[in-house]
Order: sequence, then C-alpha cells, then structure tokens
Amino acid sequence: MGAVLSDRVRGPGSGVRDGRRLVIRGGTVWDEHGAQRADVLVEGGRIAAVGRLVGEVGDAEVVDASGFDVLPGFIDVHVHVADRIGRFELADDFASGSEIAVASGITTFFTFATQRPGETMTEAVRRVLERAEGQLHCDAGLHLTPTQWPWDWEEIGRLVAGGFRTFKLYTTYRAAGLYSDWVRIEGVMRRLAPLGAGVLLHAEDDGIVAAIDPAGVDLRDPHAHTRLRPERVEVEAIRRAIGLAERTGCPLHVVHVSTADGAGLVSAARGRAAVTCETGPHYLLLSDDALRGPGGHRSLCTPPLRAEATRARHEALAAAGAFDLLATDHCAFRRADKDDWDGSDFRAVPTGLPGLGALVPLAFELLVKRHGRPLSELVRVLAASPARLLGLYPRKGAVAPGADADLVVLDPRGPSRPIRSTLADAHDPWSARTTTLAVRHVLLRGTPVVTDGRLAAASPRGCALVTV
Ligand SMILES: [Zn+2]
Repeated sequence: MGAVLSDRVRGPGSGVRDGRRLVIRGGTVWDEHGAQRADVLVEGGRIAAVGRLVGEVGDAEVVDASGFDVLPGFIDVHVHVADRIGRFELADDFASGSEIAVASGITTFFTFATQRPGETMTEAVRRVLERAEGQLHCDAGLHLTPTQWPWDWEEIGRLVAGGFRTFKLYTTYRAAGLYSDWVRIEGVMRRLAPLGAGVLLHAEDDGIVAAIDPAGVDLRDPHAHTRLRPERVEVEAIRRAIGLAERTGCPLHVVHVSTADGAGLVSAARGRAAVTCETGPHYLLLSDDALRGPGGHRSLCTPPLRAEATRARHEALAAAGAFDLLATDHCAFRRADKDDWDGSDFRAVPTGLPGLGALVPLAFELLVKRHGRPLSELVRVLAASPARLLGLYPRKGAVAPGADADLVVLDPRGPSRPIRSTLADAHDPWSARTTTLAVRHVLLRGTPVVTDGRLAAASPRGCALVTV
C-alpha cells in the first residue's frame, strides 16, 4: 500500500509529519534478524540514519535509550472498532482503540470497511473514514469487505489502484450476509490475482457447520460452541483455501488460525503458494476451559477457544516461528451486551474478545520470556510481517533510513504491571495477567506520543493510511 502513503493523503490535520529532529541515543536497535547498538536519527517524520552517530546529530533533541531496546512500531492487522456486528455496537471506537494501541507500542492497526446493503464499497470506505476523522492516536488502514454480489469490478479496480490491497472473505456467517461459497471465492481470487491484491479469509467450512445438528448439544452451555464448530471445520476450510491459492496464484492470508493442524497445512503450503496466516494470543494462551462454568459465555469467540492439547501444540508452533504474524481480532463487546442473555441459548451472545492493548505484552511474555526467543522475533511477527502483508514494508515495520519514524523504546525489565486490552467497559480476558514490559517511548512518524511511559496529552496525531 506504499502508494497511498503519499504526501497527498497527509494533508493538514491528518497527523502530518513532525518537522523536528531528534535522536534516540544509545539503545539496542532490533530488526527481524538481530540487534545492534545504535542511535536513530529522526528528521521530518522519517528515519534519517541508524548507527553510531556523532556529527550528523547536531542540535537534535535527545531521547535517552541507554539500557533499553528500540524496535519498529508494532502493527495489528486485525482489529474491529467503530462498527456494528449484528445488533451490537462494538465497545471500542477509533479513539479508545487507537489510544490503548499506541500506549502499548502499536503505531498502526488495520480494521475493516464492510459494505452495507445499498452502499457502494467506496461509500462504505468513506463512512468508516468519517468516523475515524480526528480520532486516531495511531495510524490506521482498512481492509475491504464487499458484500454485494456480483462485485463492481470497475470500482474494485479503482480501489486497488488507490492502495487497497486486502479483501476479506468469509466461508461462514450466512445469516449475517457475509458468507461466500467456494466457487465464488475462487472467482474473486482469480480476478484479484492480476490486480496484485489478496484475500484475507475467515476459514470455517459452513458446509460442515451446517451438517452438525444443534439438537445434539446443550445450548445452555457455552462450552458447546466447541462442538458446533469443531477443529475439522477450520482445518477443512484451510485445506480448500490453500488449493484455491495454488490454482489462482492469489495471495491468501488465513486470519485467526485456531488449530495446530490448520497452521500445519499453511506451513506445508509455503513455497507452493502465496499463503500466510496469523493467530491471536487467545488461541495461544487460553483454552476452552474458559468457556466452562459461570461467566463462560464471556469467553465466546469464533473460531472457539480450543482444548488444552491443541492450545499447547499451537503454543509450541508459535515458539518455533510457524506463524507469519500475530494479530488480535480485537472485538470488544460491552459487558452488558455479553451478559444480556437469558441462559437458554448461548448463540444469542455476541462472540469476540478484546486484545489490542494486550497483544504486545502477551507476545513478549510468551515468546521472549517463556520461550527464550529474541526481541527480533517480536519484530518479525508484530512489525515486519504485518507490514509486508499490508504492502507497507519497509515504509513501516523496519528501523531503516527512509522508513516512517514509528519507533518504540522498550524496557523488558520494568516493574510488574497488569495487562489491559481495552479502555472500554468490556470483559477483559487478560486483566488477571501481568507483564514486566515497560513501554518507555513511542514515536509516531517522528512525534513523541508516549514519553517516559506516559501518553502525551496532545490531540490525536494518527492518520488514515488510505483515502478515496
Ligand atoms: Zn475479525
């Protein structure tokens, strides 16, 4: 999406570049391959130089990073905010979502423009961007979810040319009007491939879901969600989707992979097809035990949390670097909306979990502290790979001359603090966990937005990375 980051979309009021010069001094600078002791010079919102800098720094403001780690700003490619899902308005809007994001070191997130009946895709984008206007504490971009068939390919072509690279398709959610069958998905992939755009796929085979008789489960028990959407629902969908990616040459990104078998299929397909996948912290750190007992309905998400044996295999895969990237599928529902069911049928409960503010600390606790991976692995799964998926690399996702000065200064040995995934009044599955990862400083295109661990009080400085 490099083209859309032109100066054209960085007009006044959209979080324009900061003219100041500053140097991040004396830190350990990480990329996805390793680290070096280096200073980072920032000028005009971009990284001007990385290395042992002396003369060229001049009178630049100094951010002291000695003893700390300097990483590219993190990117969450899968976030739901400021939207209505079914009859529920999400608990987070652009302001609250981007505020907790940037406070945790996430300098870019991508959310969705989902076409509504009677609306063109372009109008849907405009509607979402209007809601984001003046609200963004970090940068944000959009994946497109056209829902009116057939797609208007002239319009789609214009949108791709304008920088929209990722289109979301669902293999389920018939009632919500999101479902596409495999023939339709193949048709879309055939037409997107030559445009240089790709598909993000929610992979749960609706044919298998539909064949499971809900009369066979106790719908008062939220744990039965795992029986209505068993692992084979996802695994089979991923298998078929990989086949389509091979046949059509269209890049395929499988979102929120919840099964180790599904992740294994993606790993095996790399090299044969342009296939990538993400998983979320909830599939790595929570099991279906969270669905049992009082309050179990609050942990409903789709695909469902998996049995402990699967979760453990999933975690081992993440520790071995099997996932291209981690993303949250942040989808915070108001506590009152989650709890507003009469106990008779859990399918009335909105499914989704918040995760945005928890992504970075959970990934750090899991990959770095528990599994001994270097911080370069965080750069890979939370910055470089996401930027590549979005077509933003190396403008974002890298600490290199010419890149946007989206930078995070971290202290891995900070005091223990609670993890918080959302500022909204929502059930937070991570609130009992703690981290020692302290976010000391965050720069957004050269502007300090977190200083000494405190969010700057200034007005939102983020910008939309796309426009129509
Ligand atoms: Zn999602």
